[in-house]
This record gives sequence, structure tokens and C-alpha cells, in this order.
Amino acid sequence: MCYAIPGKVIEIDNNICKIEYFGIIKKVRNDFYDLKIGDYVYAQGGFVIQKIPKEEAIETLKVWEEFFHKLKEIDLRVTYPSKDLYKIANRIRQEYHDNSCCVHGIIEFSNYCRNNCLYCGLRRDNKKLKRYRMELDEIVNLAFYAIKKLNFKALVFQSGEDLYYDIDKLSYIVRRVMEESPCLLILSIGEREIEIFEKLYEFGARGVLLRFETSNEKIYEKMRPGHKLEDRVNLIKELKNIGYLIMTGFLIGLPGEEEGDILNNLTLTNELGAEMFSFGPFIPHPDTPLKDFSPPPMEKVLDTIAQARILYPNSKILVTTAMQTLDKKEGLKKGLLAGANSLMINLTPKEYASLYEIYPNRDGIGEDVNKKIKEIIDLLHKLGRAPADIGL
Ligand code: SAM
Ligand code: SF4
Repeated sequence: MCYAIPGKVIEIDNNICKIEYFGIIKKVRNDFYDLKIGDYVYAQGGFVIQKIPKEEAIETLKVWEEFFHKLKEIDLRVTYPSKDLYKIANRIRQEYHDNSCCVHGIIEFSNYCRNNCLYCGLRRDNKKLKRYRMELDEIVNLAFYAIKKLNFKALVFQSGEDLYYDIDKLSYIVRRVMEESPCLLILSIGEREIEIFEKLYEFGARGVLLRFETSNEKIYEKMRPGHKLEDRVNLIKELKNIGYLIMTGFLIGLPGEEEGDILNNLTLTNELGAEMFSFGPFIPHPDTPLKDFSPPPMEKVLDTIAQARILYPNSKILVTTAMQTLDKKEGLKKGLLAGANSLMINLTPKEYASLYEIYPNRDGIGEDVNKKIKEIIDLLHKLGRAPADIGL
């Protein structure tokens, strides 16, 4: 199964092209290839990430065509059973995004962190946690496997704020991956110097996942000792100016959350020009100062997804894995039916994934990756969603 549908280039205007698949036309940006009309490409997050041979594209499109229309019909039939708000949000999602659903892979390459966020199990004062760092070639080879063998087109590289990975090491990873197996490469490495992000952009990284966590300054400063919300927000703006696709958002249910905070969080996510909204429930970790607090109810998270969809219909909205911790059986499905249209599959090797314990009981940890992918793709098909993410 391929997590993207090939598009045919039908118009070119400098580095902006129009591509078409099954009568659907999308605008994409081409930073990497010499393209002409009639070429076939894979695009992700609005970027052309691979040029593919015509025969291969036609073959893939043939496989997809009948299935694509079948999925669309299923999507129109399936709705959330319990709440009108979710039904409306789901209908808006269909109208603006059809049945496409972004499927990104995530590689968690280090659990070292210099920070001490109160909510996070990776915080530096958590001395109980066994720390790991993946070798550079181990990371690169895992990315090659994800792209070449598992067919992922977009990968998130995530870690604690770990200075061991300096500009040279990070550049090595990005350069090797982009030279040999181009993908939409998304960085989630916390707040690092802007020069690092500039350099990694030069090597082909095009996305950053960096949540602002909360738009409530008081809570932010309490939760992230020694940090200011303004600095985080300014960094996200600078990254946007460099040209990165921004994935950002917040935690739902942080202690002290006030009436109106969620709406303000959604507004800020939108103001920051997020390509993808990434928000999810706070899940207390037993080895953090917030161990005695409770996570928010699932309904609050679903309501937030639905509100985001209604307020910002064009946005991509991620179902975060923390939702599957709140509701292991149905978290993902419920999120997708309440208006979300993106998800991530954890590709971190088992021996490390269990140590990347941001919060306890992370879903899918220890499961075989192929089994995990199959389960998720089966669910998407049952819901009538096509794993694809093409245009701007
Ligand atoms: N260190 C980077 C950063 O903070 O941006 C990236 C890794 S960090 C573990 C990724 C995200 O995990 C954070 O943005 C935060 O929202 C989320 N997170 C941390 N602790 C969490 C918890 N207890 N429950 C749910 N999400 C949590
Ligand atoms: Fe470190 Fe990110 Fe966890 Fe904060 S949320 S402690 S920066 S890994």
C-alpha cells in the first residue's frame, strides 16, 4: 500500500505546478526537480517530493482508480453515531478534503532532553528513565526502510531537545535521507538555533512540528520553567518565514486550563499559519510533578477537533496518538469521524519506543510495525479514507 497517489503535472508556473489525479486538481510547490508537463510526481503536504517514471505511475493509478471511488462512497456513508457537532465537522471535512487522510511516519531518535517540562516523561529531572540515542546511520537506515520498503512519503524525526545532535550530525541525517530517498522530511527537535533550521532547510527538510503547548502565558511559564511563550511563538514564525510547513498546536487539559483557553489555542494555531493542527490530550506521567492530575475526558478532545474543523475547514487536523491512550479501541476512529484527517504511525524500533515514554501506555508500542500499518490501513478503508496527502 502506498501512502500517496501519483499526480500528473498539468501546469507549471515557476516553482508552482498543478497536478491532477482522478479529475482532482491540486497546487503543489516544486523545489527539487526539473519538471515538464506530463511528468508524474508524488506530492506531500503540498511539496513535490518524488518524480516517478510514467509506467510506474500509470500502474499505480490503475490499482488505485476503482478502489479510490469505492472508498469515496464508503466515506460518504460512515458518520459518527452520537453527536451532531461531529457529524457537521465530518461533513465539512468531506467537502474541503474529500476522503484523503495524511499518513506520516514518526521516528523517535533520542529521549535525552535538556528541558524540564512539568508534563513530560522525558524531562531531564526524570532520573528513572533509561536514556537512548540512535546512531546517525541507524536513523538514516530506518528512514530508508520506511520510505523504500514501507512506502512512507512523509517522515517526522523527533527527539527531546538533545544537543548531542549538533548542526553537523543533523545535517548528515537530512542530507543522506534527502539525497537517497526524498520524502517530506519533518523536524521535531524542539527549540534549536535558527541557523540549524536554515541549514537543514538547505538540505531539503521542509516541515517542522513544534507545538506552542498553550497560549496561556501563565500556564506556559509554569509548565516550561525558564521558557517564555513569546520565544516559542517567535521561533515558529521565523521557521514559517524560512519556508517550512508548520505543524503546531497545544495540549488539552493542562492543569490550570481556563475557560476560553482552547479557543485561544485554536486561534493561535491558525494565526501561526499551521499547515497541520497538532493538539492532543495531556496524559499524566507517574514520574513527573503532574502525576496526580487527570487527563481530560475524551469528549473534550473530540469537541476540540470538531471546533477546529468548523472554524478552519481548510486545515489538516491530526489525531494524536495520545487519543489512543485515552481510548485504545476507538480513539483513532472517533478522532477521524469528528473532523480529523491526518495520523502518524510510530516507526521507532521497539527497544527504543518503550523508552520514549512522554506519557505512559502509549498505543502500539512493542507491536510489529507491519501489523500496526495493516491495522491502521484496514481502519482507514473501513472509514472510506484514502491514505493520501497531495496539495497545498
Ligand atoms: N522536544 C520536542 C518538543 O518539545 O517540541 C519534541 C518532542 S516532545 C516529546 C513532543 C510533544 O510531546 C510535545 O510538544 C508535547 O506536547 C507532547 N507531550 C509531552 N508530554 C506529554 C504528556 N504528558 N501528554 C501528552 N503529550 C505530551
Ligand atoms: Fe523535552 Fe519536549 Fe519533553 Fe519538554 S516536551 S521535556 S522539550 S521532550
